[in-house]
Amino acid sequence: MTKWVYSFGNGKAEGQADMRNLLGGKGANLAEMSNIGLPVPPGFTVTTEVCTFYYQNEKQYPGDLNDQMDAALATVEGIVGAKFGDPANPLLVSVRSGARVSMPGMMDTVLNLGLNDETAAGLAAKSGDPRFAYDSYRRFIQMYSNVVLDVDHHLFEEQLEIKKEETGAVLDTELSAQDLQDLIVEYKRLVRDELDHDFPQDPREQLWGAVGAVFSSWMTHRAVVYRKLNKIPEEWGTAVNVQAMVFGNMGDDCATGVAFTRDPSTGENLFYGEYLVNAQGEDVVAGIRTPQHLTIAGKDAQGSKLPAMEEVMPEVFKQLDDVRLTLEKHYHDMQDIEFTVQQGTLYMLQTRNGKRTTQAAIKIACDMVDEGLINEEEAVTRIEPQALDQILHPRLDPDAERKVIGKGLPASPGAASGIVTFTADEAEARALNGDRVMLVRIETSPEDIHGMHAAQGILTTRGGMTSHAAVVARGMGRPCVSGAGDLNVDYKGKTFSVAGITVKEGDWITIDGGSGQIMLGEVPTVQPELSGDFARIMDWADKARRLKVRANAETPDDARTARNFGAEGIGLCRTEHMFFEGDRITAVREMILAEDEAGRRAALEKILPMQRADFVELFNIMKGLPVTVRLLDPPLHEFLPREPNEFEAIAKDLGVSVEKLRYRAAQLHEMNPMLGHRGCRLLNTYPEICEMQARAIFEAAILVREESGDAPHCEVMVPLVGIQKELELMRAVIDRVADEVAAEKGIKPDYTVGTMIELPRAALRAGTIAEEAAFFSFGTNDLTQTTFGLSRDDAAGFLGSYEKRGILKNDPFATLDKEGVGELIEIAAERGRKTRPGIKLGICGEHGGDPSSIDFCEEVGLDYVSCSPFRVPIARLAAAQAAIRRKG
Ligand code: ADP
Ligand code: MG
Ligand code: MG
Repeated sequence: MTKWVYSFGNGKAEGQADMRNLLGGKGANLAEMSNIGLPVPPGFTVTTEVCTFYYQNEKQYPGDLNDQMDAALATVEGIVGAKFGDPANPLLVSVRSGARVSMPGMMDTVLNLGLNDETAAGLAAKSGDPRFAYDSYRRFIQMYSNVVLDVDHHLFEEQLEIKKEETGAVLDTELSAQDLQDLIVEYKRLVRDELDHDFPQDPREQLWGAVGAVFSSWMTHRAVVYRKLNKIPEEWGTAVNVQAMVFGNMGDDCATGVAFTRDPSTGENLFYGEYLVNAQGEDVVAGIRTPQHLTIAGKDAQGSKLPAMEEVMPEVFKQLDDVRLTLEKHYHDMQDIEFTVQQGTLYMLQTRNGKRTTQAAIKIACDMVDEGLINEEEAVTRIEPQALDQILHPRLDPDAERKVIGKGLPASPGAASGIVTFTADEAEARALNGDRVMLVRIETSPEDIHGMHAAQGILTTRGGMTSHAAVVARGMGRPCVSGAGDLNVDYKGKTFSVAGITVKEGDWITIDGGSGQIMLGEVPTVQPELSGDFARIMDWADKARRLKVRANAETPDDARTARNFGAEGIGLCRTEHMFFEGDRITAVREMILAEDEAGRRAALEKILPMQRADFVELFNIMKGLPVTVRLLDPPLHEFLPREPNEFEAIAKDLGVSVEKLRYRAAQLHEMNPMLGHRGCRLLNTYPEICEMQARAIFEAAILVREESGDAPHCEVMVPLVGIQKELELMRAVIDRVADEVAAEKGIKPDYTVGTMIELPRAALRAGTIAEEAAFFSFGTNDLTQTTFGLSRDDAAGFLGSYEKRGILKNDPFATLDKEGVGELIEIAAERGRKTRPGIKLGICGEHGGDPSSIDFCEEVGLDYVSCSPFRVPIARLAAAQAAIRRKG
């Protein structure tokens, strides 16, 4: 018999924290909190396996689910001392969705389930508080109708507003029991009008309706989009949690709130949260009333006048603060918690590892090491490598002029500029068009996710630090300013105004998610600070990792950035970039146009000193670290003009006729240049190019060594080799030049010759190629292209649809295709090592900076990864995590 239902409550549970796959994150942690003796209202979790069953069996439930749920419900009834559906003493429950990872887009929680006309009257009598009972009932009808029966919630809100107007109430809490009862009559009529049937009065029907709605929500558009964006597999499914209600809306000794055990924005070890007196459920985040701070310090920091929980309910606050410490001690991580206070008693309703900014993640990890909660390696695993992106990017230049027009809450750090858009769709459309956009909303909801993703930054006029916009933006690493209440947004007119200034759609603004400032125009930015806690984490990462990390760099700027970020060498220096600059292109074109070898040599003579100077600069920056220089790779026609009107000027420059230039361009034209006359094919037909480049490298290396003593180790890399002979011939040229230079200068340059592995044939013939190659560098961009037979430049058009249809799980140009391309890499590594034990192996495609691809490189035992300079810290951290993972 399969166990479909797991109970929790009364100081124990059938589940525990490590069962999140089966119970979902929320269910597993409710069980865990029960187990460690925290006050959790009793309940049970219907497993994710039921969700799987449901979708595999045409939305039918397992036969024995009903009995198991009945038994679990009876246990809850026993603990609470009330009965589900009993008019005299009704048990009410909440029905909550909960996948393995928290997922916006899933069904909203239904509270107060089990109420009907009879049980509401019973609850009124039993509690002696009819206002509370009918407040709960009207909330339930609205929530259930909206979430389960799909009736627009605005219709209910309209009725509520009418009722408030009629009675002169300003806040919901001012409505009397009678007002609420009248409202309930209206609500029920509304449901009947909308659905042609009555609001379900049978609590069991309500319960099954809500359970079914949770499972259905797994396949809603919102959920599907979110899963796709976050690479969450559909097979995971969601669990359902049914839990006895506790009430934060029974009067002024009641409250509901959300908190982080540390500040999720800065990481400071301060209790951070918001609460509302006499409220229920999501009131705090919904922005109906302004939430109040938990602590006096928090209140003061934000300049709020509303009293803190610490002042209003000191005893319960003390309890909550103790829970905070218990949870951190237990989970060894910062927690995001939800709680309710019913008549002075605290109940815990949720805990999970809290989302945090990268800055906060780093500070928390370091602090927790100092506090003895975690060790250094654990700290290294606490930071999402990709998320480092957030802090590696520029901040507002402190000296730049800022035209500050408003201020909101500093909801997610980082500075961003973009053109104003007011809807998620518009933001997405403009971003696809290549614009940098700012999404400006009154508030955001899960429907806006795609727009938030497309935007550089997010600005809202409503909602606190725990609002949807704030939480999602922090998760995505987008700068966000929330709750900028002075801004007046006019969606219809597509403008917002503040302090007498009107900003239109399409205007540039800048936000600073660290200070909450909103500025007109585009404000310049500066590079980030890489010392302090960041440096500590990177130090620990460096201790833990085995893989070396290099950068792909050819300009002095890139090389400097790479070194700043801790690169241990250059893994790919593309020499063709050096051919395009300034007046060199003229010499390069002369070479291309030359009729014979003598002509080419004359032109190459002119290029040599320029290329040598480039290498001198690069080697000086790299101070003795290894530098892999790739010889000329692209087809020659890339250096010739494209636009017809360019030909004339260039012909004049070169002193040749336009006809000749056109003729040569036509001659060089190829149908498939990526598979054409490029790389070592070009070098083999024009060995003098190889000769010149090798000479430039070696002369530069010797110059630098003589000047600074830091002799670079040069790795001369021949691209696009598929046949052993191709490399053999080029290596002979390179070795000969090295000997010549050594004879001329009296010093032998320190160098090795190797090749890129970027053709399937090269991978398969790696055993013989390794006879000629001291190293292999996997050029996974081309290797992916050639393995799939898929052009990187043309694939974007249909890769999206391939991913949507599940033909490909990921874009293979972003995440290494471990099955196919990966197998070729393994084959090449194995065969290469067999011929030449200890052959140096690295990777230099885009994948070199992708954490999951780096994990693969660790698996295969490569020596290094090479990535773009900004990704070097990401790669260092990912390499460390890959090594730690394998320690088990
Ligand atoms: P989400 O996944 O969106 O956070 P939850 O299932 O946590 O949704 O429910 C949202 C809120 O509903 C909770 O924070 C809590 O305030 C309220 N809630 C849920 N279950 C109960 C319950 N048993 N008693 C009282 N309030 C509850
Ligand atoms: Mg919610
Ligand atoms: Mg919650």
